[in-house]
Amino acid sequence: LARLRARLAKSNNALGKGLLALLSQDKIDEDVWDEIEETLLLADLGTEPTLELVDALRERVKIEGSRDPKQVHDMLREELIKLVDPTMDRNFIPTRHADRPNVIMVVGVNGVGKTTTIGKLARVLVAEDKDVILGAADTFRAAAAEQLATWGDRVGVPTVKSDIDGADPASVAFEAVTAGIDQEVDIVMIDTAGRLQNKVGLMDELGKIKRVIEKKATVDEVLLVLDATTGQNGLNQAKVFSEVVNVTGIVLTKLDGTAKGGIVVAIQRQLGVPVKLIGLGEGPDDLAPFDAEAFVDALLD
Ligand code: GDP
Repeated sequence: LARLRARLAKSNNALGKGLLALLSQDKIDEDVWDEIEETLLLADLGTEPTLELVDALRERVKIEGSRDPKQVHDMLREELIKLVDPTMDRNFIPTRHADRPNVIMVVGVNGVGKTTTIGKLARVLVAEDKDVILGAADTFRAAAAEQLATWGDRVGVPTVKSDIDGADPASVAFEAVTAGIDQEVDIVMIDTAGRLQNKVGLMDELGKIKRVIEKKATVDEVLLVLDATTGQNGLNQAKVFSEVVNVTGIVLTKLDGTAKGGIVVAIQRQLGVPVKLIGLGEGPDDLAPFDAEAFVDALLD
């Protein structure tokens, strides 16, 4: 948690300090409210949530008659936490099976951090004494399977991959799940290809992977990985993927490199799916469970 704060504070300071300075002025007039609005929009909170937040704050400042910066800061914190929604279930494997592996499919556009996230997540699971197998169903780029296997070696878990370039992704996924069942592991994580250029192709491929896996096991979780630095573009990607597969959780990567943490709110609104994990760097330990209150505190620090 301390690391989360340090990391986010470094990149998101503008939001907290800027807002606090604005709110602590003697007179919070229309100009100040406009600036507050602008600051929140710049943090990618999204238009609708920003307007709601500012309205709620204005209302509270009016009713509670407080101009004390500390109190206004607390109000802002409360309203932001409401927007991020602490009540969402952020368990990244909601159902655990005693008798067969949990299967997690990881989807997202190339370069957002899927493979890295799988590596980091495998490390977390291994540390919890879980047996894990990785499946390299991104068979389109040979380098992708290699990269996944390298992460596997690094954290000490086996990777099922094909030696044939352009092999059928669904059959690699099937083999990984079969190996997972045979070896009685706890979790099988499947990396997939993310070529968004062709929505029909993507839909066919991800749909087929899921169908083929489900001959053997249930897909318990479909994690959509999004790059926090891509703003609106990331939102559009999220929409396409959620139309193609039933996304059950979001992993927001590269939050260490952006002042746009507000994107969490925008994405959750758009998909109705919780952000479950956040990526805070390229290293094996740079993955954290998402916690609404801690996140808002880091934003406002
Ligand atoms: P994939 O194509 O979706 O599998 O993406 P990769 O896992 O290969 O990641 C693409 C690049 O983003 C790599 O250089 C990663 O090291 C980097 N990356 C992934 N997650 C993070 C993160 O949370 N923070 C930062 N700064 N870089 C990340």
